[in-house]
Amino acid sequence: MMVKCPTCRKLHEYDVNSPFRPFCSERCRLIDLGQWASDAYVIHGVPGSADPDLIVEQLEKMQEEKNEAEEAKTARKRNK
Ligand SMILES: [Zn+2]
Repeated sequence: MMVKCPTCRKLHEYDVNSPFRPFCSERCRLIDLGQWASDAYVIHGVPGSADPDLIVEQLEKMQEEKNEAEEAKTARKRNK
Protein backbone atom coordinates (compact mmCIF):
# COMPACT_ATOMS: atom_id res chain seq x y z
CA MET A 1 0.00 0.00 0.00
CA MET A 2 1.32 3.41 -0.93
CA VAL A 3 0.79 6.20 1.57
CA LYS A 4 1.73 9.85 1.63
CA CYS A 5 4.37 10.84 4.13
CA PRO A 6 2.80 13.46 6.45
CA THR A 7 6.03 15.45 6.45
CA CYS A 8 7.38 15.51 2.90
CA ARG A 9 4.15 14.37 1.14
CA LYS A 10 6.10 11.87 -0.89
CA LEU A 11 4.40 8.60 -1.68
CA HIS A 12 6.10 5.63 -0.12
CA GLU A 13 5.36 2.00 0.59
CA TYR A 14 3.59 1.64 3.95
CA ASP A 15 5.52 -0.85 6.02
CA VAL A 16 3.87 -2.01 9.26
CA ASN A 17 7.28 -3.04 10.52
CA SER A 18 8.83 0.33 9.86
CA PRO A 19 9.81 2.18 13.03
CA PHE A 20 9.21 5.44 11.15
CA ARG A 21 5.65 4.82 10.00
CA PRO A 22 3.61 6.61 8.92
CA PHE A 23 6.63 8.61 7.81
CA CYS A 24 8.91 7.60 4.96
CA SER A 25 12.09 7.96 6.97
CA GLU A 26 13.56 8.75 10.36
CA ARG A 27 14.28 12.26 9.12
CA CYS A 28 10.62 12.95 8.38
CA ARG A 29 9.61 11.46 11.73
CA LEU A 30 12.07 13.76 13.51
CA ILE A 31 10.87 16.78 11.55
CA ASP A 32 7.29 16.00 12.60
CA LEU A 33 8.42 15.62 16.21
CA GLY A 34 10.18 18.93 15.83
CA GLN A 35 6.95 20.61 14.81
CA TRP A 36 5.35 19.97 18.18
CA ALA A 37 8.63 20.05 20.06
CA SER A 38 9.25 23.56 18.79
CA ASP A 39 6.30 24.69 20.94
CA ALA A 40 7.93 23.23 24.03
CA TYR A 41 11.57 23.87 23.28
CA VAL A 42 13.31 26.94 22.04
CA ILE A 43 14.91 26.07 18.77
CA HIS A 44 17.46 28.54 17.48
CA GLY A 45 16.30 30.46 14.50
CA VAL A 46 13.30 32.53 13.60
CA PRO A 47 10.00 31.03 14.87
CA GLY A 48 7.77 29.84 12.09
CA SER A 49 10.60 29.57 9.61
CA ALA A 50 12.61 26.88 11.35
CA ASP A 51 15.01 25.09 9.08
CA PRO A 52 14.14 21.35 9.06
CA ASP A 53 17.84 20.50 9.09
CA LEU A 54 18.24 22.61 12.21
CA ILE A 55 15.28 20.93 13.88
CA VAL A 56 16.70 17.49 13.12
CA GLU A 57 20.04 18.62 14.47
CA GLN A 58 18.44 19.92 17.67
CA LEU A 59 16.38 16.78 18.15
CA GLU A 60 19.39 14.56 17.61
CA LYS A 61 21.27 16.60 20.21
CA MET A 62 18.35 16.33 22.64
CA GLN A 63 18.17 12.60 22.09
CA GLU A 64 21.91 12.26 22.65
CA GLU A 65 21.72 14.23 25.87
CA LYS A 66 18.84 12.08 27.04
CA ASN A 67 20.77 8.92 26.25
CA GLU A 68 23.77 10.25 28.14
CA ALA A 69 21.59 11.05 31.14
CA GLU A 70 20.12 7.55 31.04
CA GLU A 71 23.58 6.04 30.82
CA ALA A 72 24.76 8.10 33.78
CA LYS A 73 21.75 6.94 35.79
CA THR A 74 22.45 3.30 34.93
CA ALA A 75 26.12 3.72 35.78
CA ARG A 76 25.25 5.24 39.15
CA LYS A 77 22.94 2.35 39.96
CA ARG A 78 25.62 -0.11 39.05
CA ASN A 79 28.15 1.55 41.38
CA LYS A 80 25.89 1.24 44.41
ZN1 LIG B 1 8.91 11.87 4.19
